[in-house]
Amino acid sequence: MVKAIIIGSGISGLTAGAYLVDKGYEVRIYEQFEEIGGVTGELRQDGFIWNQGQMLVEGFSEGEQVGSILSDLSVTREIPLKRSDRIYSFPGFRIEKPVKYSGAKWRIEFLKTLFPEDSTGLDRYYKDYVKFMELVTLARKSERSGGVASRMYKMRMFMKLLPFLPYLKWNSQRFAERYFKNPELKAVFLSILADFVVRPSEFQGLGIFFVNPEPAFDRRIPLELSNIGRHPSYTYILGGCGVLVKCLEKKILEKGGRIVTGKAVQKINIKDGKAVGVVLDDENTESADVVIGSGGAREFVDLLDAENSPESLRKQVDDLPLMESVFMVNLGVDFDPRPYQGVATTYYYNTLDFEHGIDDIKKGKYHEGKEGFVIYIPSYHTPAMAPEGHHSLTIYTIAPNNPENGSWAERKEEMAEKLIIEAEKQIPGLRDHTVTKMIVTPDDFRKRTHLKHHAFGGVAPVMGKKGLSHKTPIKNLWYIGAQSESGAGMNNAMEGAWRTIKAMEKESR
Ligand SMILES: Cc1cc2nc3c(=O)[nH]c(=O)nc-3n(C[C@H](O)[C@H](O)[C@H](O)COP(=O)(O)OP(=O)(O)OC[C@H]3O[C@@H](n4cnc5c(N)ncnc54)[C@H](O)[C@@H]3O)c2cc1C
Repeated sequence: MVKAIIIGSGISGLTAGAYLVDKGYEVRIYEQFEEIGGVTGELRQDGFIWNQGQMLVEGFSEGEQVGSILSDLSVTREIPLKRSDRIYSFPGFRIEKPVKYSGAKWRIEFLKTLFPEDSTGLDRYYKDYVKFMELVTLARKSERSGGVASRMYKMRMFMKLLPFLPYLKWNSQRFAERYFKNPELKAVFLSILADFVVRPSEFQGLGIFFVNPEPAFDRRIPLELSNIGRHPSYTYILGGCGVLVKCLEKKILEKGGRIVTGKAVQKINIKDGKAVGVVLDDENTESADVVIGSGGAREFVDLLDAENSPESLRKQVDDLPLMESVFMVNLGVDFDPRPYQGVATTYYYNTLDFEHGIDDIKKGKYHEGKEGFVIYIPSYHTPAMAPEGHHSLTIYTIAPNNPENGSWAERKEEMAEKLIIEAEKQIPGLRDHTVTKMIVTPDDFRKRTHLKHHAFGGVAPVMGKKGLSHKTPIKNLWYIGAQSESGAGMNNAMEGAWRTIKAMEKESR
């Protein structure tokens, strides 16, 4: 039996583990934290359950990125999903689905009423959005199919790409200007980049289509977009992300795999240019035929002796544009916030200047919630995540790992107060109705993930940069997880794990 050691039990490690037990490998996962799941693990206090941030997840429906993975692993039925949508709130206006469904283009038509001078641009944008999504659909189909079918999809993809070729090197700021004049309208399409901790001037222009899928704003929009193209779906996992973590854990254990918590890997052993096992923090050695690392890219490379860490790996790590961390306040409240926030996820933006906002965060300047935040109320979709008559609610902002003034340990209560003050402008009464509170700082995220620099979605999607490769120059040593993907959400972290197992299998053949 081929033995694989996986470092880390985040969603990427669990996905890889589930594939490998199915393929007959002996799987052992080492996790340094006392609980599994990494940032997909749950937080619990006083009868309330919160996720560590995952809200609407992309690509979980049948035939999509994660949908196909769940189907490969035969666990589709164990992951109850609910299609849903989000609200964007800007100073002076909101993008919120109409009560009565008014077609797939309602958001574009609504924006035309707000920005009539950009009506033609909005129509051009939507036409190109459709073409781009067709391109993405063909790319995914090509990757999932093999042989002739894959080549056919690639050819069609290339034809679809042709009209976009002149814009490949445009950044998103310039690309948005191709369609829109009004700065507020440009902000509507660029605002989500703040969540990726990437400046509009650094983000690939064509990526605007990718990060603004229409179904994210209205779950009623059919996913079929044309005879070739599909929009991605947005869903909640009913019960929260912990349901997926537990499901993958169960599968791994049932098929003879082992998950060991509270044990960090402190070294990867290499012999004759091949990975042969790991050394744990209790100095015990565990041998293996394959080692798959996850977690931080720099931390992963640091597990190799100097003589075994090729220059090419170190260079890649030095060049990674990592995202920043998150400051989060989880509340348990004894009232129903629906009159103020009708859907589980709302992004509140209080600035239009994302270029400088991102710069500041990178310099350690924290805006204390004044520039915007997200409120996520998981008990809307899963009432069991809070005691009866109560709600679990998360407020979070992107935040620097190291604030320029003081430390998170010293300032967390003050920062939580300031964030709640901002949130109360949207949901009045939050403080008076709070029955329990849990603050999660970048320090806590670092502890949970074993990272020196916590990057909440891994590698920032900066043009021309990519994550650390899955395949390393060392035989039988592979790398997966958020820092191997650009702009990693759960979907990309899981898909990266699937790709890696596929590449591993191909190589072993
Ligand atoms: C606040 C927040 C909000 C988010 N929101 C969303 C969202 O809405 N939608 C979405 O799709 N994605 C979201 N993401 C991103 C997504 O959750 C992550 O990209 C993904 O879960 C990362 O999975 P991972 O396995 O790469 O890493 P992790 O979850 O960090 O797991 C890595 C694991 O490896 C362990 N480890 C590392 N080194 C070692 C070692 N040497 N020995 C033993 N164990 C080790 C760590 O302890 C950790 O448990 C969010 C993330 C955060 C933090």
